[in-house]
Amino acid sequence: MSEKPFTGAVFYEYLNEHKLMGSRCKTCGEVHVPPRPGCAACAGSAVEWVEMSGQGALAAYTVIHIAPTAMIEAGYDRNTPYCTGVVALAEGPRISAQILDVDVRHPETIEIGTPLEIAFIERGEGAARRTYLAFRPEK
Ligand SMILES: [Zn+2]
Repeated sequence: MSEKPFTGAVFYEYLNEHKLMGSRCKTCGEVHVPPRPGCAACAGSAVEWVEMSGQGALAAYTVIHIAPTAMIEAGYDRNTPYCTGVVALAEGPRISAQILDVDVRHPETIEIGTPLEIAFIERGEGAARRTYLAFRPEK
């Protein structure tokens, strides 16, 4: 298992490889995503990298019409809204991500608890290319 530092930078390195990684406490088993160098549950400092299954459920969501700059550059605006949500991962942690393939024009059709699977979005060119975390309803 990798012994890379448990930092956000390494988390995004893994994301670029299409891996959603977290840290798991060797003492109590608590999983943190993004990773933490120590355990928030038991204050233990022995943690290891663990890859998430990519399965989860929608815990909360909002449809964004006034997009931040990065999302405007990605093609979203007042007329092209997008959904961002909180995903409860099968392993326990919650993480925010863009939610794809939901009807953003009819947000009332988006249901809390919807089973989701991981998706990866590539944005940017060349050195600016980055992978962004997203989820979509399970097929
Ligand atoms: Zn712990």
